[in-house]
Amino acid sequence: MRLPGEPLLNIIVAVAAALCLLLARPAASAEALETHMTITGRSTIFELTMSEGVTAQVFTLANPYRVVVDLPDVTFRLDPSAGQKGAGLISEFRYGLFARHKSRIVIDTKGPVKIHSANMTRLKGTSAVKLAIALMPMDVAAFGGGTGAGMVAAADEPLSDAGSPGRSGGPQNPLGKPVVVIDPGHGGIDPGAIGANGVNEKTIVLAVAMQLKDDLEKTGLYEVRLTRSEDVFVSLDNRLKYSRDNDASLFISLHADSIEEKAAASIRGATIYTLSNMATDKEARIMAEKENASDLLAGIENLDRGNDDQVKNILIDLMKRETSNFSADFSQVLAKRLSKTIAMSRVPRRSAAFKVLKQTDSPSVLVELGYISNRTDEEQMLTPEWQSKVASAITGAVQIYFNKRTVARP
Ligand SMILES: [Zn+2]
Repeated sequence: MRLPGEPLLNIIVAVAAALCLLLARPAASAEALETHMTITGRSTIFELTMSEGVTAQVFTLANPYRVVVDLPDVTFRLDPSAGQKGAGLISEFRYGLFARHKSRIVIDTKGPVKIHSANMTRLKGTSAVKLAIALMPMDVAAFGGGTGAGMVAAADEPLSDAGSPGRSGGPQNPLGKPVVVIDPGHGGIDPGAIGANGVNEKTIVLAVAMQLKDDLEKTGLYEVRLTRSEDVFVSLDNRLKYSRDNDASLFISLHADSIEEKAAASIRGATIYTLSNMATDKEARIMAEKENASDLLAGIENLDRGNDDQVKNILIDLMKRETSNFSADFSQVLAKRLSKTIAMSRVPRRSAAFKVLKQTDSPSVLVELGYISNRTDEEQMLTPEWQSKVASAITGAVQIYFNKRTVARP
C-alpha cells in the first residue's frame, strides 16, 4: 500500500492482533525472526518478519543517512550475520534494545532516501507479520535534515474511518495503541492562576482534560491516561515520571494562565508551547518560570537532577532531536486546528524551558488555553460548550498527528 502523501517520513505501522490471542499469552513479546532485502527498479525493499504484529515507527535521519525503525520490546532472533551486508540502497543495518521497552533497527543507507511505502501484512494462517519498507533514492536538497517536522506533508483532516480500515469495530490490540498522556496542570495545594472572577486554573484545566479524555477514547484509537483525574497535587517530576512509565507517544499539558493586571484586559487567546532552552520571547520565559514554580508553591524542593539517565549520551541526543521534531509537528497541527475554534494569542506557537516538557522520548506540548485573568476568556472557559469545542479540536489534531504516520494494518 502506498502512503497517502509521499513525503511522509514518519510512519507508524500499527497492527491489531486478536485480543484473545494477546490475553492468552500476556508476557510474550514479539520476536524478530528474519530480514530480507530486495532490489526492484530504483527502490530497495527491506523486509522484517516478526512473530506477531507490533507498532512500528519508521523515519529517516541525516548525518549519516539512516532509516530508523522503532519497535516496542522485541526479541531479536536474527541470523548473527544479518545486517553486515547490505543490498541496493542499504549498506548495512544494526538492531537491538534502544531504551527500556524500546527496540530499534538502524539501517545505514548509501545516500539520502525517502520512505516510499511501508506496510505490515499478516502471513497466512499464522500470527506472524511481515513489515516491508520500500526506500527510494532522493536528492540531498530535498532530504534536508530528515525526520523534520517541515518534511511532513500538511494533511490537515483526520482520515475518516472508511479511509483507515481496521480502525473501527472488532477487537483492538490495546498494546498497539499509541498512549496519549493528558496532564491537567496544578491541582490540590497549587491552584494555578486565579481568574478575574475567582475561578482557579486547576479546575478549568481538569474539566477540559476529562472532556478530552472522553473524546479521544471515543475514537477507539488511543490509550488515554491522565496525570491527575481529581483535585490533587502532582509534582512536575511525577508528571514526567508518569509520562515515562506509561511510554507516552504524546504528552499534552493543559494550562490556563493569568498575566499582570494592566495587560489582562487586552491580552487573550491560546498559546502552544514546546520545549526549548531559549525562550521565544519575554512572555514565554515568564510563563515557563511561572509554571516551573509549581513545585515550589507546593513546598517541594526544586532539584534539577540533570543527567542521571542511564542511556548513553549519543542515544539521548538522537532521541531528543526526534522528540523535538515530533513535538514541533504536533504543535503546528494543533495551532492550526485550535485557531479554527478559539481565539489564539498574538504569537500562537512559542517555546521556552518548561520543566514538564523536558522529556527524552515523549513528544510533548504545553497548551495555555487562554488567560483566565481576562474576564471574557474566563467566562467562556467555564462553559461546557467552550470546553467541548476545545477538546474536540485537540482530538482532531491528535488524529491528524498520528494519521500522518499510519499506513496499514493487516
Ligand atoms: Zn498553569
